[in-house]
Amino acid sequence: MLAVAALGVILGLIGARSFVAEVDAHRLRGEDRWWDPRCPECASSLGVLLVRCREGHRQRFINVMILVLLPVLLASAAYWVPSLWVWPAYAVFVASMLLLSVADLDTKLIPNRILGPATLVGAVLLVGGWIFDMDAGSLLRALLGALAYFFVMYLLAVIARGALGFGDVKLAFLIGGFAGFISWGSVLVAGIGGFLIGGIVSVALLVSGKFGRKDSIPFGPFMAIGGVIAVVWGTAIMEWYLG
Ligand SMILES: [Zn+2]
Repeated sequence: MLAVAALGVILGLIGARSFVAEVDAHRLRGEDRWWDPRCPECASSLGVLLVRCREGHRQRFINVMILVLLPVLLASAAYWVPSLWVWPAYAVFVASMLLLSVADLDTKLIPNRILGPATLVGAVLLVGGWIFDMDAGSLLRALLGALAYFFVMYLLAVIARGALGFGDVKLAFLIGGFAGFISWGSVLVAGIGGFLIGGIVSVALLVSGKFGRKDSIPFGPFMAIGGVIAVVWGTAIMEWYLG
């Protein structure tokens, strides 16, 4: 477990660089600069810590968050995954939750070029890991969980007419699948948790006056946080709730 956690830290530190580059490419809508994040001011490469460029311009705080959170997420996954065989799948899942959240906050869009590969690679790794340890979770429940969360969000998107993007609906499929692989409780926690956190933050923003009623608040990050909470603590939360 410790070895896998260490691997997670190393992958996280290395991966943070391409994460920042990817988010940057989205934000600036510039050319593809995978692995090579550039300074928006002078276009020179960023230093190892991602906090300054070669010319010394200070970079966004979100870079530091990525550099800290990605290794933490990947390493901690070694301790909460249902089986180490599915660690690669859940590593892809939590990494994509972080990347999609940052991209959504930046552009109010959930980019298909991240969501698509994350869903596909995550699913292949999940099936692969499950073959080695069939007690780790249930593929059927994963599929049903994905479809359940997807259809709930789809209905809400139809009712809300534009307030919820279709990106959120597709994101629900990914989250529902990884939560469902673990338990039905996790699926419930993912959905309810996302709305609870999103609702509380939205009300807080409205009350604080920083956001008006017409401003749209990206919902993806709340779903992503709900999804991560669900895969880590979902089963425990439901057991506690049901007494
Ligand atoms: Zn610079």
